[in-house]
Amino acid sequence: ALEIRGASKSFGDRPVLRGIDLDVERGSVTVILGPSGSGKSTLLRAINHLEPLDEGSVRVGGELVGVRVRHHPRRGDQLVELPEREILRQRSRIGFVFQAFNLFPHLTILENVTEAPLSLGRDAAETTQKARALLERVGLAEKASAYPRQLSGGQQQRVAIARALVLEPEVVLFDEPTSALDPELVGEVLKVIAGLAGSGTTLVVVTHEIGFAREVADRVVFIDEGVILEQGTPAEVLDAPTHPRTREFLGRVL
Ligand code: ATP
Ligand code: MG
Repeated sequence: ALEIRGASKSFGDRPVLRGIDLDVERGSVTVILGPSGSGKSTLLRAINHLEPLDEGSVRVGGELVGVRVRHHPRRGDQLVELPEREILRQRSRIGFVFQAFNLFPHLTILENVTEAPLSLGRDAAETTQKARALLERVGLAEKASAYPRQLSGGQQQRVAIARALVLEPEVVLFDEPTSALDPELVGEVLKVIAGLAGSGTTLVVVTHEIGFAREVADRVVFIDEGVILEQGTPAEVLDAPTHPRTREFLGRVL
């Protein structure tokens, strides 16, 4: 579902991603772990081209994201940026759930979920039906007409998840979806994300919740200083890490 090849990115003279190769299988759950500043958010943002790469490529469902190949007779093949319209179309295939829920405060919960499909011209009745089904799935059917400020942080994040799913994306990216929540609200959000596992949607989750990684992830990827140091099954990476940096990190978060 997702193929990252040689992804590199610097901010000024500071390299943040240094040649990341990553394959994510369709329908699987990948958890990305790593210290603060290791490049996890930058990598997620690169996947939907919010952060264009300096080098390398991202493919979602086989399609290059954000760029196309231009064949050049003398200089060889080059990647050129797609028009904004095309990038927006691709982004609609990639759901994103942020740390801060980013709901529209002036829209109801239902309207928050239907906003994107309606603005893309999708059928209103069908969209509403789908949105209601998703709200049901995240346990918020009865909050459809409420406004975000009337919901707890955990409930708002569950709405953000429903909103990320409404366009039936190929991949859903989560960037520390529970780290802005009060501890007692973390579980309900993780449970909703775990409930999506195995439903066919590909999930990539940046989180420090090791218990979640252990129980839900198919693959765990450890990133440090813009490089994947280690990846494998949860048992491999969490219980038998081979790299000293992974061990040190796990020692701190466990
Ligand atoms: P955290 O766990 O704290 O969220 P992270 O692994 O998500 O960290 P990134 O947000 O990807 O890390 O940032 C990696 C590095 O790139 C950091 O040093 C950060 O300061 C820097 N960085 C990120 N975005 C920008 C930007 N737009 N301009 C300049 N530097 C940036
Ligand atoms: Mg981050």
